[in-house]
Amino acid sequence: MSSDRAAWKVQSSKVAKSAHNPIRKIVDSLKLDPNAQKEFISLSVGDPTIFGNFNVDQSCNEAVIKQLNSFKANGYPAAHGTVQAREAVAKAFTHPEAPLTADDVLLVNGCSGALELCLNVLCDAGKNILLPRPGFPLYGSLAATRFVEAKYYNLKPESNWEVDLEHLESLIDDQTAAILVNNPSNPCGSVYSREHLEKVLKVAAKHHVPIIADEIYCDLVFTNNTFYPMASLTKEVPILSVGGLAKKWLVPGWRIGWILVNDPVGAFAEIREGLLNLSQVILGPNSVVQAALPDILHNTPKSFYEKTIEQLEHNTSFSMDAVSKIDGLKPVQPQGAMYMMVGIETAKFKDIASDVEFSQKLLAEESVLCLPGQCFNYPDYVRIVITPTIDRLEEAYKRMDEFCARHRK
Ligand SMILES: *Cc1c(COP(=O)(O)O)cnc(C)c1O
Repeated sequence: MSSDRAAWKVQSSKVAKSAHNPIRKIVDSLKLDPNAQKEFISLSVGDPTIFGNFNVDQSCNEAVIKQLNSFKANGYPAAHGTVQAREAVAKAFTHPEAPLTADDVLLVNGCSGALELCLNVLCDAGKNILLPRPGFPLYGSLAATRFVEAKYYNLKPESNWEVDLEHLESLIDDQTAAILVNNPSNPCGSVYSREHLEKVLKVAAKHHVPIIADEIYCDLVFTNNTFYPMASLTKEVPILSVGGLAKKWLVPGWRIGWILVNDPVGAFAEIREGLLNLSQVILGPNSVVQAALPDILHNTPKSFYEKTIEQLEHNTSFSMDAVSKIDGLKPVQPQGAMYMMVGIETAKFKDIASDVEFSQKLLAEESVLCLPGQCFNYPDYVRIVITPTIDRLEEAYKRMDEFCARHRK
Protein backbone atom coordinates (compact mmCIF):
# COMPACT_ATOMS: atom_id res chain seq x y z
CA MET A 1 0.00 0.00 0.00
CA SER A 2 1.47 3.36 -0.95
CA SER A 3 2.03 6.07 1.64
CA ASP A 4 -0.82 7.96 -0.06
CA ARG A 5 -3.14 5.80 2.03
CA ALA A 6 -1.58 6.81 5.32
CA ALA A 7 -3.81 9.85 5.81
CA TRP A 8 -7.04 11.32 4.44
CA LYS A 9 -6.41 12.74 1.00
CA VAL A 10 -9.60 12.79 -1.02
CA GLN A 11 -9.16 14.35 -4.44
CA SER A 12 -11.75 15.38 -6.97
CA SER A 13 -11.73 13.74 -10.39
CA LYS A 14 -10.26 15.19 -13.56
CA VAL A 15 -13.79 15.55 -14.87
CA ALA A 16 -14.81 17.61 -11.83
CA LYS A 17 -11.69 19.74 -12.16
CA SER A 18 -12.48 20.44 -15.80
CA ALA A 19 -16.13 21.30 -15.10
CA HIS A 20 -16.88 25.00 -15.27
CA ASN A 21 -19.68 27.40 -16.01
CA PRO A 22 -18.20 30.50 -17.64
CA ILE A 23 -21.23 32.57 -16.68
CA ARG A 24 -20.75 31.85 -12.97
CA LYS A 25 -17.07 32.65 -13.13
CA ILE A 26 -17.52 35.96 -14.93
CA VAL A 27 -20.56 37.00 -12.88
CA ASP A 28 -18.60 36.27 -9.70
CA SER A 29 -15.84 38.50 -11.01
CA LEU A 30 -18.34 41.38 -11.30
CA LYS A 31 -18.25 41.35 -7.47
CA LEU A 32 -22.05 41.38 -7.38
CA ASP A 33 -22.63 44.64 -5.62
CA PRO A 34 -25.75 46.48 -6.78
CA ASN A 35 -26.48 50.05 -5.74
CA ALA A 36 -28.64 49.62 -2.62
CA GLN A 37 -30.44 52.92 -3.34
CA LYS A 38 -32.00 51.52 -6.52
CA GLU A 39 -34.25 48.52 -7.01
CA PHE A 40 -32.33 45.67 -8.67
CA ILE A 41 -33.35 44.86 -12.25
CA SER A 42 -32.03 41.66 -13.81
CA LEU A 43 -31.67 41.54 -17.58
CA SER A 44 -29.39 38.55 -17.20
CA VAL A 45 -31.36 35.40 -16.45
CA GLY A 46 -32.56 33.31 -19.38
CA ASP A 47 -35.64 32.13 -17.50
CA PRO A 48 -38.84 33.75 -18.82
CA THR A 49 -40.93 32.61 -15.83
CA ILE A 50 -39.35 34.78 -13.15
CA PHE A 51 -41.16 38.07 -13.86
CA GLY A 52 -44.75 36.81 -13.87
CA ASN A 53 -45.55 38.03 -17.40
CA PHE A 54 -44.75 34.77 -19.24
CA ASN A 55 -46.83 31.93 -17.85
CA VAL A 56 -47.41 28.31 -18.81
CA ASP A 57 -50.82 27.63 -20.35
CA GLN A 58 -53.46 26.40 -17.91
CA SER A 59 -54.06 23.35 -20.14
CA CYS A 60 -50.48 22.15 -19.51
CA ASN A 61 -51.01 22.35 -15.75
CA GLU A 62 -54.22 20.38 -16.13
CA ALA A 63 -52.45 17.74 -18.23
CA VAL A 64 -49.97 17.19 -15.40
CA ILE A 65 -52.67 17.16 -12.70
CA LYS A 66 -54.62 14.57 -14.67
CA GLN A 67 -51.58 12.28 -14.72
CA LEU A 68 -50.88 12.78 -11.01
CA ASN A 69 -54.45 11.83 -10.16
CA SER A 70 -54.38 8.76 -12.40
CA PHE A 71 -51.90 7.00 -10.07
CA LYS A 72 -50.50 5.48 -13.27
CA ALA A 73 -47.54 7.75 -13.90
CA ASN A 74 -45.43 7.04 -10.83
CA GLY A 75 -43.24 4.18 -11.98
CA TYR A 76 -40.00 4.04 -13.96
CA PRO A 77 -40.66 4.84 -17.61
CA ALA A 78 -38.58 3.20 -20.36
CA ALA A 79 -35.05 4.64 -20.22
CA HIS A 80 -35.46 6.69 -23.41
CA GLY A 81 -39.09 7.61 -22.68
CA THR A 82 -42.51 5.97 -22.89
CA VAL A 83 -43.71 5.03 -26.34
CA GLN A 84 -46.76 7.33 -25.95
CA ALA A 85 -44.59 10.32 -25.13
CA ARG A 86 -42.10 9.57 -27.91
CA GLU A 87 -44.95 9.13 -30.37
CA ALA A 88 -46.36 12.50 -29.33
CA VAL A 89 -42.99 14.20 -29.91
CA ALA A 90 -42.58 12.46 -33.28
CA LYS A 91 -46.04 13.58 -34.34
CA ALA A 92 -45.40 17.16 -33.24
CA PHE A 93 -42.02 17.47 -35.02
CA THR A 94 -42.30 15.19 -38.03
CA HIS A 95 -41.83 16.97 -41.35
CA PRO A 96 -42.61 15.75 -44.88
CA GLU A 97 -38.91 16.21 -45.73
CA ALA A 98 -37.68 14.70 -42.46
CA PRO A 99 -40.24 12.15 -41.25
CA LEU A 100 -40.05 10.94 -37.64
CA THR A 101 -41.51 7.98 -35.78
CA ALA A 102 -41.38 7.17 -32.06
CA ASP A 103 -38.21 5.14 -32.76
CA ASP A 104 -36.40 8.31 -33.82
CA VAL A 105 -37.10 10.07 -30.50
CA LEU A 106 -35.36 9.91 -27.12
CA LEU A 107 -36.66 11.78 -24.09
CA VAL A 108 -34.04 13.27 -21.83
CA ASN A 109 -33.56 15.61 -18.89
CA GLY A 110 -34.06 18.96 -20.52
CA CYS A 111 -32.40 20.17 -23.69
CA SER A 112 -29.19 20.30 -21.65
CA GLY A 113 -29.49 16.56 -21.08
CA ALA A 114 -30.08 16.12 -24.80
CA LEU A 115 -26.91 18.05 -25.65
CA GLU A 116 -24.92 16.04 -23.12
CA LEU A 117 -26.04 12.76 -24.66
CA CYS A 118 -25.30 14.01 -28.19
CA LEU A 119 -21.77 15.00 -27.24
CA ASN A 120 -21.25 11.73 -25.41
CA VAL A 121 -22.36 9.61 -28.32
CA LEU A 122 -20.48 11.54 -31.03
CA CYS A 123 -17.24 12.66 -29.40
CA ASP A 124 -14.36 10.73 -27.90
CA ALA A 125 -11.71 12.50 -25.85
CA GLY A 126 -9.20 14.08 -28.21
CA LYS A 127 -11.76 14.79 -30.92
CA ASN A 128 -13.01 18.29 -31.62
CA ILE A 129 -16.41 19.88 -32.02
CA LEU A 130 -17.22 23.10 -33.86
CA LEU A 131 -19.22 25.59 -31.78
CA PRO A 132 -20.71 29.01 -32.59
CA ARG A 133 -19.05 32.22 -31.33
CA PRO A 134 -20.93 33.91 -29.72
CA GLY A 135 -22.77 30.91 -28.37
CA PHE A 136 -24.49 29.22 -25.46
CA PRO A 137 -21.80 28.46 -22.85
CA LEU A 138 -23.07 24.97 -22.03
CA TYR A 139 -21.59 23.65 -25.28
CA GLY A 140 -18.04 24.52 -24.26
CA SER A 141 -18.57 23.25 -20.72
CA LEU A 142 -19.79 19.87 -21.99
CA ALA A 143 -16.83 19.60 -24.34
CA ALA A 144 -14.38 20.45 -21.55
CA THR A 145 -15.61 17.73 -19.17
CA ARG A 146 -15.19 15.17 -21.97
CA PHE A 147 -11.72 16.40 -22.97
CA VAL A 148 -13.11 17.24 -26.38
CA GLU A 149 -11.55 20.30 -27.98
CA ALA A 150 -13.99 23.16 -28.61
CA LYS A 151 -13.20 24.98 -31.85
CA TYR A 152 -15.20 28.16 -32.33
CA TYR A 153 -16.53 29.32 -35.68
CA ASN A 154 -17.39 32.99 -36.05
CA LEU A 155 -20.86 34.43 -36.47
CA LYS A 156 -21.13 37.78 -38.27
CA PRO A 157 -23.08 40.47 -36.39
CA GLU A 158 -23.22 42.65 -39.53
CA SER A 159 -25.22 39.99 -41.38
CA ASN A 160 -27.69 38.93 -38.70
CA TRP A 161 -25.16 36.67 -37.02
CA GLU A 162 -24.85 34.32 -40.00
CA VAL A 163 -22.10 31.73 -39.89
CA ASP A 164 -18.76 32.75 -41.40
CA LEU A 165 -18.78 29.75 -43.75
CA GLU A 166 -15.14 29.99 -44.81
CA HIS A 167 -14.04 30.14 -41.21
CA LEU A 168 -16.29 27.19 -40.34
CA GLU A 169 -14.84 25.09 -43.15
CA SER A 170 -11.26 26.03 -42.26
CA LEU A 171 -11.71 24.51 -38.78
CA ILE A 172 -12.72 21.04 -39.99
CA ASP A 173 -10.06 18.34 -39.74
CA ASP A 174 -9.81 14.55 -39.34
CA GLN A 175 -10.69 14.80 -35.66
CA THR A 176 -13.88 16.85 -36.12
CA ALA A 177 -16.78 14.87 -34.65
CA ALA A 178 -19.66 17.32 -35.14
CA ILE A 179 -20.77 20.84 -35.96
CA LEU A 180 -23.19 22.42 -33.53
CA VAL A 181 -25.70 24.88 -34.99
CA ASN A 182 -28.01 26.87 -32.70
CA ASN A 183 -31.02 28.35 -34.51
CA PRO A 184 -32.80 30.50 -33.31
CA SER A 185 -29.83 31.59 -31.27
CA ASN A 186 -29.13 32.27 -27.65
CA PRO A 187 -27.51 34.85 -27.14
CA CYS A 188 -28.06 36.47 -30.58
CA GLY A 189 -31.81 36.17 -31.15
CA SER A 190 -30.97 35.45 -34.79
CA VAL A 191 -33.09 33.25 -37.08
CA TYR A 192 -31.40 31.80 -40.16
CA SER A 193 -32.91 31.81 -43.63
CA ARG A 194 -33.42 28.61 -45.55
CA GLU A 195 -30.62 29.60 -47.95
CA HIS A 196 -28.13 30.18 -45.17
CA LEU A 197 -28.90 26.87 -43.45
CA GLU A 198 -28.46 25.12 -46.80
CA LYS A 199 -24.99 26.66 -47.13
CA VAL A 200 -24.02 25.36 -43.68
CA LEU A 201 -25.37 21.92 -44.64
CA LYS A 202 -23.28 22.00 -47.80
CA VAL A 203 -20.09 22.43 -45.77
CA ALA A 204 -21.12 19.56 -43.47
CA ALA A 205 -21.95 17.33 -46.46
CA LYS A 206 -18.69 18.09 -48.28
CA HIS A 207 -16.63 16.92 -45.28
CA HIS A 208 -19.07 14.30 -43.94
CA VAL A 209 -19.44 15.94 -40.53
CA PRO A 210 -22.73 15.27 -38.69
CA ILE A 211 -24.68 18.16 -37.17
CA ILE A 212 -26.14 18.73 -33.73
CA ALA A 213 -28.99 21.22 -34.26
CA ASP A 214 -29.98 23.02 -31.03
CA GLU A 215 -33.52 24.08 -31.94
CA ILE A 216 -34.88 24.66 -28.43
CA TYR A 217 -36.42 28.00 -29.54
CA CYS A 218 -37.93 26.41 -32.70
CA ASP A 219 -40.70 28.62 -34.04
CA LEU A 220 -40.47 31.39 -31.43
CA VAL A 221 -39.69 33.76 -34.31
CA PHE A 222 -40.98 37.23 -35.18
CA THR A 223 -43.03 38.58 -38.11
CA ASN A 224 -41.44 37.94 -41.53
CA ASN A 225 -39.14 35.23 -40.18
CA THR A 226 -39.59 31.49 -40.63
CA PHE A 227 -38.02 28.70 -38.63
CA TYR A 228 -36.69 25.86 -40.80
CA PRO A 229 -35.81 22.67 -38.92
CA MET A 230 -32.33 21.91 -40.23
CA ALA A 231 -33.17 18.27 -40.86
CA SER A 232 -35.93 19.27 -43.28
CA LEU A 233 -33.38 20.88 -45.61
CA THR A 234 -31.07 17.96 -46.34
CA LYS A 235 -31.29 14.57 -47.98
CA GLU A 236 -27.76 13.72 -46.95
CA VAL A 237 -26.45 15.14 -43.67
CA PRO A 238 -27.19 13.12 -40.51
CA ILE A 239 -28.55 15.41 -37.82
CA LEU A 240 -29.34 15.07 -34.13
CA SER A 241 -31.92 17.78 -33.44
CA VAL A 242 -32.46 18.73 -29.81
CA GLY A 243 -35.29 20.62 -28.17
CA GLY A 244 -37.58 20.58 -25.17
CA LEU A 245 -40.43 22.15 -23.26
CA ALA A 246 -38.34 24.78 -21.49
CA LYS A 247 -38.68 27.81 -23.74
CA LYS A 248 -41.69 27.45 -26.07
CA TRP A 249 -43.93 26.04 -23.33
CA LEU A 250 -42.39 28.33 -20.67
CA VAL A 251 -41.58 25.57 -18.17
CA PRO A 252 -37.77 25.34 -17.91
CA GLY A 253 -38.10 23.71 -14.50
CA TRP A 254 -40.05 20.74 -15.80
CA ARG A 255 -36.84 19.33 -17.32
CA ILE A 256 -38.19 17.65 -20.43
CA GLY A 257 -36.00 17.56 -23.50
CA TRP A 258 -35.72 15.40 -26.58
CA ILE A 259 -33.35 14.19 -29.25
CA LEU A 260 -34.69 13.67 -32.77
CA VAL A 261 -32.55 11.29 -34.84
CA ASN A 262 -32.58 12.34 -38.49
CA ASP A 263 -30.65 9.90 -40.61
CA PRO A 264 -31.39 10.30 -44.32
CA VAL A 265 -28.53 8.09 -45.60
CA GLY A 266 -28.32 5.50 -42.80
CA ALA A 267 -25.09 6.83 -41.30
CA PHE A 268 -26.35 6.84 -37.71
CA ALA A 269 -26.85 3.07 -37.03
CA GLU A 270 -24.13 3.03 -34.35
CA ILE A 271 -25.22 6.39 -33.03
CA ARG A 272 -28.81 5.21 -32.50
CA GLU A 273 -27.57 2.20 -30.55
CA GLY A 274 -25.10 4.36 -28.64
CA LEU A 275 -27.83 6.80 -27.64
CA LEU A 276 -30.01 3.96 -26.35
CA ASN A 277 -27.08 2.51 -24.41
CA LEU A 278 -26.27 5.88 -22.88
CA SER A 279 -29.92 6.54 -22.00
CA GLN A 280 -29.93 3.31 -19.94
CA VAL A 281 -27.28 4.64 -17.57
CA ILE A 282 -29.48 7.27 -15.93
CA LEU A 283 -33.16 6.98 -16.76
CA GLY A 284 -34.88 9.77 -18.66
CA PRO A 285 -37.09 12.60 -17.45
CA ASN A 286 -39.78 12.79 -14.79
CA SER A 287 -42.56 10.23 -15.31
CA VAL A 288 -45.48 12.57 -14.57
CA VAL A 289 -44.54 15.28 -17.03
CA GLN A 290 -43.63 12.62 -19.57
CA ALA A 291 -47.07 11.07 -19.26
CA ALA A 292 -48.61 14.52 -19.74
CA LEU A 293 -46.55 15.18 -22.87
CA PRO A 294 -49.13 13.96 -25.43
CA ASP A 295 -51.72 16.37 -23.97
CA ILE A 296 -49.19 19.20 -23.69
CA LEU A 297 -48.05 18.88 -27.29
CA HIS A 298 -51.49 18.34 -28.80
CA ASN A 299 -53.88 20.38 -26.65
CA THR A 300 -52.04 23.61 -25.93
CA PRO A 301 -54.12 26.21 -27.82
CA LYS A 302 -52.50 27.97 -30.75
CA SER A 303 -53.40 31.27 -29.10
CA PHE A 304 -50.92 30.50 -26.29
CA TYR A 305 -47.96 30.35 -28.70
CA GLU A 306 -49.22 33.39 -30.58
CA LYS A 307 -49.47 35.40 -27.40
CA THR A 308 -45.96 34.41 -26.32
CA ILE A 309 -44.49 35.47 -29.66
CA GLU A 310 -46.49 38.70 -29.71
CA GLN A 311 -45.18 39.61 -26.26
CA LEU A 312 -41.58 38.70 -27.14
CA GLU A 313 -41.79 40.73 -30.32
CA HIS A 314 -43.28 43.70 -28.49
CA ASN A 315 -40.56 43.60 -25.81
CA THR A 316 -37.90 43.28 -28.51
CA SER A 317 -39.05 46.29 -30.51
CA PHE A 318 -39.38 48.30 -27.30
CA SER A 319 -35.80 47.30 -26.41
CA MET A 320 -34.43 48.05 -29.91
CA ASP A 321 -36.06 51.50 -29.86
CA ALA A 322 -34.79 52.41 -26.42
CA VAL A 323 -31.26 51.03 -26.69
CA SER A 324 -30.51 52.28 -30.21
CA LYS A 325 -31.14 55.84 -28.93
CA ILE A 326 -28.29 55.53 -26.43
CA ASP A 327 -25.05 56.92 -27.83
CA GLY A 328 -22.29 54.32 -27.39
CA LEU A 329 -24.56 51.26 -27.58
CA LYS A 330 -25.25 49.35 -30.78
CA PRO A 331 -28.02 46.74 -30.50
CA VAL A 332 -28.28 44.07 -33.21
CA GLN A 333 -31.89 43.49 -34.32
CA PRO A 334 -33.15 40.11 -33.07
CA GLN A 335 -35.48 37.99 -35.21
CA GLY A 336 -36.68 35.53 -32.58
CA ALA A 337 -36.00 33.92 -29.18
CA MET A 338 -35.61 36.03 -26.03
CA TYR A 339 -32.33 37.91 -26.27
CA MET A 340 -30.61 40.90 -27.80
CA MET A 341 -26.88 41.45 -28.23
CA VAL A 342 -25.71 45.03 -27.75
CA GLY A 343 -22.31 46.26 -28.93
CA ILE A 344 -20.40 48.53 -26.52
CA GLU A 345 -18.44 51.23 -28.36
CA THR A 346 -15.69 51.40 -25.77
CA ALA A 347 -13.89 54.19 -27.67
CA LYS A 348 -16.79 56.52 -26.84
CA PHE A 349 -16.39 56.06 -23.09
CA LYS A 350 -13.75 57.58 -20.85
CA ASP A 351 -13.63 54.82 -18.26
CA ILE A 352 -15.25 51.70 -19.73
CA ALA A 353 -12.65 49.55 -21.43
CA SER A 354 -14.56 46.28 -21.81
CA ASP A 355 -17.92 44.54 -21.67
CA VAL A 356 -17.07 43.18 -18.22
CA GLU A 357 -16.33 46.69 -16.95
CA PHE A 358 -19.57 47.94 -18.50
CA SER A 359 -21.62 45.26 -16.71
CA GLN A 360 -19.74 45.75 -13.48
CA LYS A 361 -20.19 49.54 -13.33
CA LEU A 362 -23.79 49.42 -14.56
CA LEU A 363 -24.58 47.05 -11.71
CA ALA A 364 -22.70 49.03 -9.08
CA GLU A 365 -24.18 52.39 -10.11
CA GLU A 366 -27.60 51.54 -11.52
CA SER A 367 -28.45 48.10 -10.07
CA VAL A 368 -29.06 46.76 -13.58
CA LEU A 369 -27.39 43.47 -14.50
CA CYS A 370 -26.79 42.20 -18.01
CA LEU A 371 -24.27 39.52 -18.88
CA PRO A 372 -21.01 40.57 -20.50
CA GLY A 373 -20.40 39.10 -23.96
CA GLN A 374 -17.37 37.24 -22.59
CA CYS A 375 -19.85 34.77 -21.04
CA PHE A 376 -20.63 33.82 -24.63
CA ASN A 377 -17.08 34.10 -25.89
CA TYR A 378 -17.77 37.51 -27.41
CA PRO A 379 -16.12 40.56 -25.83
CA ASP A 380 -17.31 44.15 -26.36
CA TYR A 381 -20.96 43.12 -26.36
CA VAL A 382 -23.51 42.53 -23.60
CA ARG A 383 -26.55 40.26 -23.78
CA ILE A 384 -29.91 41.64 -22.74
CA VAL A 385 -32.75 39.27 -21.84
CA ILE A 386 -35.93 40.92 -23.17
CA THR A 387 -38.49 38.95 -21.10
CA PRO A 388 -38.88 41.29 -18.07
CA THR A 389 -42.08 43.38 -17.91
CA ILE A 390 -42.17 46.54 -20.03
CA ASP A 391 -42.09 48.82 -16.98
CA ARG A 392 -38.93 47.09 -15.75
CA LEU A 393 -37.34 47.30 -19.21
CA GLU A 394 -38.26 50.97 -19.45
CA GLU A 395 -36.68 51.76 -16.08
CA ALA A 396 -33.57 49.69 -16.94
CA TYR A 397 -33.01 51.49 -20.26
CA LYS A 398 -33.56 54.89 -18.62
CA ARG A 399 -30.85 54.08 -16.11
CA MET A 400 -28.60 52.73 -18.88
CA ASP A 401 -29.04 55.97 -20.79
CA GLU A 402 -28.05 58.08 -17.77
CA PHE A 403 -25.16 55.74 -17.07
CA CYS A 404 -23.78 56.06 -20.59
CA ALA A 405 -24.17 59.85 -20.57
CA ARG A 406 -22.14 59.98 -17.35
CA HIS A 407 -19.34 57.83 -18.74
CA ARG A 408 -19.09 59.16 -22.29
CA LYS A 409 -16.05 61.21 -23.28
C1 LIG B 1 -32.18 27.26 -22.44
C2 LIG B 1 -31.35 26.62 -23.46
C3 LIG B 1 -31.02 25.25 -23.40
C4 LIG B 1 -31.33 24.38 -22.20
O1 LIG B 1 -32.62 23.96 -22.11
P1 LIG B 1 -33.11 23.08 -20.86
O2 LIG B 1 -34.27 22.33 -21.41
O3 LIG B 1 -33.52 24.05 -19.80
O4 LIG B 1 -32.01 22.21 -20.42
C5 LIG B 1 -30.29 24.70 -24.44
N1 LIG B 1 -29.87 25.45 -25.48
C6 LIG B 1 -30.14 26.77 -25.56
C7 LIG B 1 -29.64 27.55 -26.71
C8 LIG B 1 -30.87 27.41 -24.54
O5 LIG B 1 -31.08 28.72 -24.60
